[in-house]
Amino acid sequence: MNAPGVVGPLIRAPDGALVLEDPVDLLGYQRDCSALPAGQAGMVVRPRDAADVADVLRKASAERVPVYVRGGGTMYAGGVIPAAGGVVLDMTGLDRILALDLDAGVVVVEPGVRFGALSAALAPHGMTIGIIPSTSPAATIGGAASAHALGTGSTRYQSFADEVVGLEVVLPDGQLLRTGSAAARGGNFFHRYGMGPDLTGLFLGGDASLGVITAIALWLRPLPAARATAVYGFPSVAAATGFVLDAQRGEALRNVWYASGYESATIRGRVGAARPDLAPEDLPVFCVGCDFGGDADELARDQARLLALAQRHGGDAFPLFDELYFNRLRGEQVYWYSFAGYFARSRCGILMASLPSTHLPEFVATLGAIRSRYAEFQWGGAVVLCRRGLHGGVMGFYDEATQWQAVQPVLREAAAALTAVGCIPYKTGKIWAAEVEQMSAWHGTLDRLKQTFDPAGVLSPGNLGLPRGGRNPT
Ligand SMILES: Cc1cc2nc3c(=O)[nH]c(=O)nc-3n(C[C@H](O)[C@H](O)[C@H](O)COP(=O)(O)OP(=O)(O)OC[C@H]3O[C@@H](n4cnc5c(N)ncnc54)[C@H](O)[C@@H]3O)c2cc1C
Repeated sequence: MNAPGVVGPLIRAPDGALVLEDPVDLLGYQRDCSALPAGQAGMVVRPRDAADVADVLRKASAERVPVYVRGGGTMYAGGVIPAAGGVVLDMTGLDRILALDLDAGVVVVEPGVRFGALSAALAPHGMTIGIIPSTSPAATIGGAASAHALGTGSTRYQSFADEVVGLEVVLPDGQLLRTGSAAARGGNFFHRYGMGPDLTGLFLGGDASLGVITAIALWLRPLPAARATAVYGFPSVAAATGFVLDAQRGEALRNVWYASGYESATIRGRVGAARPDLAPEDLPVFCVGCDFGGDADELARDQARLLALAQRHGGDAFPLFDELYFNRLRGEQVYWYSFAGYFARSRCGILMASLPSTHLPEFVATLGAIRSRYAEFQWGGAVVLCRRGLHGGVMGFYDEATQWQAVQPVLREAAAALTAVGCIPYKTGKIWAAEVEQMSAWHGTLDRLKQTFDPAGVLSPGNLGLPRGGRNPT
């Protein structure tokens, strides 16, 4: 591990870039929002442009010094934790909107632009972008691209990666690569596919393992004219699963910008706190909240259609949960993670998995088993609906002072249990490393790409289960 005072003599930072080497300044760069162990960088560099990034990567490759990349640091999978020490590149200095091309329907931004700032800049044009995570005030576009963001827009557009037109990336040898239509001499970002294989995809969800993103082109989407929320309650998880499958199959969610499902403990917790007069057994076992966006006619038609679909599956409107929780969260723009008081009372170890919608019962049952086995932690769970399939979150709330060590193996056990019932890693970082390492053909291919792009093994060692601390540290 390259501790403070050791990295400086090896890597002379670019003139004019902000450099932090004082151990106190480095404290804020030890962790992200995961429960994983902290790391210790020896130096933080805040580059101003792609040339600064290239300069650091070239020197780091030559000296075999690890480099980790940090946007807003809001990730819950450990990707930004400098586990092998070295340099942290703080990308928040690259925060310009580079181009807004309404004719091509594309906006090009630097990676340190935050979602909140981008949304505010696009709103006067009646535009937005396809996917916005719930951490939009703090999270950066570069972090979202590298961590496969989901959120508002997932029910319409699926995944952040699907919304990317092309990238500019600095490779570990300092070379600048532009992908999609912008790869052509004189070409701009207006098309992702066409010339051959999709090189853009290599860096999306890459957790800074193969390159550092220095510009991102995204599709523009029209801002919906009207918004409305509705919640449907179901007597069983199986009934809710049938509803979700039918809604996705029939594309009945095409004007739903965000939808998530809540299991019984969350419903009882939320509703029970506000309405102790209601018997828990009279509450739904599962509910699905939908945030509609479109013109007023579309919203009324789609709400009626989804209510009828819910009733066909034995469910019904459940306005109480909407009033007490879902609508309030959407209105206040704080969304579903905050439902258990994230950060207020304790910290939360979040483990997210992707799953086919058919597997919702298995996901809920796995959460239930973890909850009863580890009652010393408070557990929450929810799923986010995508256009197809789900992402499911298991959230373990722990006391930072007394339970930080103890929660870590439990989250690893939860990861193995979710994989065993057919869920797959989502936002890999370091938290899912043990699981992805077992996917031999996939992981072996990734490792071969890593050797080609990053022969010195300096970029983000430990992320995606790829080697730690440099491939050949002689
Ligand atoms: C309470 C809470 C709620 C959350 N809600 C959501 C949600 O709704 N949807 C969602 O998708 N996520 C959510 N997250 C996770 C996180 O906010 C997102 O993944 C977010 O997109 C990360 O952005 P960031 O700028 O903070 O990235 P960081 O945490 O800084 O980095 C994320 C990953 O990207 C890499 N990286 C960062 N910048 C670059 C770059 N320029 N080039 C290459 N690699 C880079 C990092 O090394 C790391 O591996 C939530 C997290 C918390 C704690």
